[in-house]
Amino acid sequence: METLPLAPFKDVIDGIKETGGEDFRLCYQCGLCEAVCPWNRVRNFLTRSIIHQAQLGVVDFGSEDLWLCVTCGACVERCPRGVGIIDIMRAVRRLLVPGGVVPASIPNLRSVMTSIASVGNPWLQEPENRANWAEGLGVKEFSEDTELLYFPCCTAAYDPRVKKVAQATGEILSKLEVDFGILGPKENCCGESVRKAGNEELFKHLAKENIKTFIENGVKKMLVSSPHCYHAFKNDYSEFKTNFDVVHITQYLSQLINEGRLKFTKEYGKKVTYHDPCYLGRHNGIYDEPRHVLESIPGVEIIEMPDSRENALCCGGGGGRIWMETKKEERFADLRIQQAIEVGAEVLVTACPYCIFMFEDSRLTLKDKEAIEIKDITEIVQEVI
Ligand code: SF4
Ligand code: SF4
Repeated sequence: METLPLAPFKDVIDGIKETGGEDFRLCYQCGLCEAVCPWNRVRNFLTRSIIHQAQLGVVDFGSEDLWLCVTCGACVERCPRGVGIIDIMRAVRRLLVPGGVVPASIPNLRSVMTSIASVGNPWLQEPENRANWAEGLGVKEFSEDTELLYFPCCTAAYDPRVKKVAQATGEILSKLEVDFGILGPKENCCGESVRKAGNEELFKHLAKENIKTFIENGVKKMLVSSPHCYHAFKNDYSEFKTNFDVVHITQYLSQLINEGRLKFTKEYGKKVTYHDPCYLGRHNGIYDEPRHVLESIPGVEIIEMPDSRENALCCGGGGGRIWMETKKEERFADLRIQQAIEVGAEVLVTACPYCIFMFEDSRLTLKDKEAIEIKDITEIVQEVI
């Protein structure tokens, strides 16, 4: 009697379980996840097929679909069985990145991972230039008796456009006489997207290095611009038994307004719409604070887009997708900008370096590039204090 080839299938099933994707067992293939997945607005993407393949141990490891998930969390909100769909996607990617080696078929991601592993940031920039964004702003180096560490994110530290977000934050904190400092060259990428892209080894290395730096420098409370850093420091790093007080800039500004420390001296007379970054909103439940800050600015008219708060449409940059090529006709950022224009907004406001990066990229391809402005909340606050 012929023996059935069970072993390889079982290996795949066990591999996915061992790398954190054991939730596939809960899925009963209802398909609700696909109904909300943003990919299905631009192309076919069968979330449940990947999960079904995991159940059977027949994952097509050569499929580009395994790299599509932006880990936006829309499906997780909707799944009636509470399946950790992102964990499954991450587990499958972990099997594709053994020992931290990204397949050559994803060249951009491969070079980004090499950059992060060698210089601590995805943009192949020198670590000693990491604090260059702060030149001329009088920002001090963090020391043990400084109250607050400001950690700007690799993208806000190096990218010429997103750097303005870090600069706006530095200027606001200085004007409000907040006792803050930065660690500059001692900082490494937080590793959040590295982990979602399947490179668990590199994530762990980055987390340990950052935690060591924070402890050695006496950091207790940290302020971040990026929801991805927020998620890493608050949720991922707690696996290493850390207990840092992590605050996103929108929470901090909202609190300063409540305390009467942040007051606005000018008007911002524009129609704005707020884009909820996935890692601030769906992943961490921060929806009200950014809106509170915007509502407190005199002259601002806020218009909501159809997909907002829990239903927000991802910018397309999560899960490591910020570092991968996306065909022009498949960019969620294009759809989001269109939504913002259609509701009559003059400014699309957000609170995430990745979103700014993705939206600016899309805005530059608009026929009328002046049809809408892209701003981080801090850039608006900077203009009106
Ligand atoms: S919504 Fe949940 S249960 Fe339904 S197919 Fe998707 S993962 Fe499976
Ligand atoms: S996390 Fe977002 S992109 Fe990934 S499968 Fe779910 S809805 Fe689709």
